[in-house]
Amino acid sequence: MKLEFFGAAGEVTGSCHILTVGGQRVLLDCGLIQGSRRDEERNRDPFPFDAAEIDAVVLSHAHLDHCGRLPLLVKRGFRGPIYAHEATCELVAILLADAAHLAERDAEYLTRKTGKKVKPLYTVKQGEAVMHLMQAVKYRVETDVVPGLRVRFRDAGHILGSCAVELWAREGELERKIVFSGDLGQYDTPILKDPEPIDRADLVLMECTYGGRRHRERSETITEIGEIITHAAAGKGNILIPAFAIGRSQEILYQLGKHHDEWGLDRFHIFLDSPMAIEATKVYWEHPRLYDKEATILRHENHEMPLLPNLKLSRDTEESMAINRIESGAIIIAGSGMCNGGRIVHHLRRCLPYRQNHVIIVGYQAYGSLGRRLVDGHEHVRIHGQDVAVRAHIHTVGGLSAHGDQDDLARWYECMENHPPVWLVHGEDESREAFADYLHRRSGATVRQPQPGDILDLATLNA
Ligand SMILES: [Zn+2]
Repeated sequence: MKLEFFGAAGEVTGSCHILTVGGQRVLLDCGLIQGSRRDEERNRDPFPFDAAEIDAVVLSHAHLDHCGRLPLLVKRGFRGPIYAHEATCELVAILLADAAHLAERDAEYLTRKTGKKVKPLYTVKQGEAVMHLMQAVKYRVETDVVPGLRVRFRDAGHILGSCAVELWAREGELERKIVFSGDLGQYDTPILKDPEPIDRADLVLMECTYGGRRHRERSETITEIGEIITHAAAGKGNILIPAFAIGRSQEILYQLGKHHDEWGLDRFHIFLDSPMAIEATKVYWEHPRLYDKEATILRHENHEMPLLPNLKLSRDTEESMAINRIESGAIIIAGSGMCNGGRIVHHLRRCLPYRQNHVIIVGYQAYGSLGRRLVDGHEHVRIHGQDVAVRAHIHTVGGLSAHGDQDDLARWYECMENHPPVWLVHGEDESREAFADYLHRRSGATVRQPQPGDILDLATLNA
């Protein structure tokens, strides 16, 4: 019985680990590596394991850095079931279709540019093949994944359908309970319920994206966004909000809806300029049973979500191009969340050179991404091969993260009364070191920081 760490050990994308029980090999997540172009080229590398020898996949949630290489897994021979929460299954379908479509378009562009045939990372058809293998599971229902391994999904409060996974592994006399955190949300996140407590484990495989930080109070962040919007209204600018299509876009819409009158939003045209975010929003509104109390009440009182009379959904490229020509009075929510591609890049290129415009950064920006360069205060950035001056106001508002901060992470961990050993994944080295130190001091936990390729023999753990 062993655990092998492949991806997202020492970085925050490309989540992927293998649990081997009684000769059965189960993949925990199969995420895409995201960041700069050079980072993303690594997605084409062969897996450090044989895809055909994987018996099943357990998927924590629908973010691309957790599910984005599933089409490659299938393309390279995987034929087993992929277990995920039912909302995750719906979101994955949207997300992979989009990722595959972008990959095809990128390949066509590079083929034209270089004169050499460039193949897409995967095709729309290969993305669809994943969906035939998905097995929808509900929260708190125990499921046998392979002989010797039972799992139970618990709400992780990160995005709709996100899970922390309890895994009971049995090999002869040896029994181990492993908990895989997936990505953990903040407590009191709008729309979603809090991360569910788990009572014990022999080992925790835990994310620590923000393990070195404390988020500011969400209420302060919301106040700041309100001030930015009010200020922008006076200065006749546009407001760009780069947002992940899944999770962040819905939360932004929810906050705009909730504060519509207070922030004077009727002076703006609000655009959700992302076909994928529009689809994901539909999934969000169709799963009211997964909401927290406040969202449940709001939805009940208004019979619909989001509560924005001046919201325009923009699906077609022509509509997006028309939005791109608006010089003032627009709030544009578009992807990608790290500004590495998608419609937001066109809007940034157009809006960044002018002082009256505002960019509100509401999500995590990985090293190497355009979003990170904006956060870091670069005065010039390269977009589509051109130098673009950054004169617009760049506001980084931390408190809206879909990830818990060190206190949230520790709070979730401490629900496990036996304070099991922790292996930290899914965090840049700085965050991992900070959180390892923090959690050890706070809870006395033994904390390890695995490297890609490390193998943990689960028999040697003191259960
Ligand atoms: Zn995530």
